[in-house]
Amino acid sequence: MVATTTAFSDLVNQLQNNFVDLKFALGSDFSWSADQKTVYYPRSTMQHAPQLLHEAAHGILGHSTYSRDLDLLKLEREAWSKAIELSKQYNIVISEDTVEDALDTYRDWLHARSSCPNCGKTGVQASAKLYKCVICPQSWRANDARTCGLKRTKL
Ligand SMILES: [Zn+2]
Ligand SMILES: [Zn+2]
Repeated sequence: MVATTTAFSDLVNQLQNNFVDLKFALGSDFSWSADQKTVYYPRSTMQHAPQLLHEAAHGILGHSTYSRDLDLLKLEREAWSKAIELSKQYNIVISEDTVEDALDTYRDWLHARSSCPNCGKTGVQASAKLYKCVICPQSWRANDARTCGLKRTKL
């Protein structure tokens, strides 16, 4: 197990050397912070190398703010194609299943996020974090930190 952990930190170091504009820092989960120009990663093994490349891809592509969920899914796709490009350079295999599973999870998350906490119908997105139900008078806010779990706050 020591060997695989070492390989993962080697990969982090390689990425850090190759992309000096980005910072790589230990965090509680895989995420990209555009504000801090930092890729966060938990202590991990090579099994999670695809996630690391994916978050690095967000950084390399300069993904920052978004307004609507539709754009969000587009950015996710872009980051995965970039991650696949990187994977060849770093000799990592990213299977189609990995990408499809990730995008499915993302779609589920988007769906849950847009579901009315009162009646369960899919709402319309009024602004980046504000949703309104089309059936009942409920509005709600959804967080954008998908790694922290979904939160819907009734308004
Ligand atoms: Zn992503
Ligand atoms: Zn409703």
